[in-house]
Amino acid sequence: MNRRPRTVSCPTCGRSVPWSAENRWRPFCSERCRLIDLGAWLDGGRAIAGEAAPDGTPMEDAAADAEGSGPPGH
Ligand SMILES: [Zn+2]
Repeated sequence: MNRRPRTVSCPTCGRSVPWSAENRWRPFCSERCRLIDLGAWLDGGRAIAGEAAPDGTPMEDAAADAEGSGPPGH
């Protein structure tokens, strides 16, 4: 009587997912939704990192240019 099937909402698609040991993708409904959520996380991190450079000049590029444009002595 006290065995109520617990369900959670998939964070990606909002679908009702049974929370059980058989569901290896919980709290997601499937592997795809899990990967989508993971990808969204990585994309967000990258977007925030890109916004950190408002002038749009990558530091790596500037450094490479200074080193490759010839000897600084003359
Ligand atoms: Zn889902």
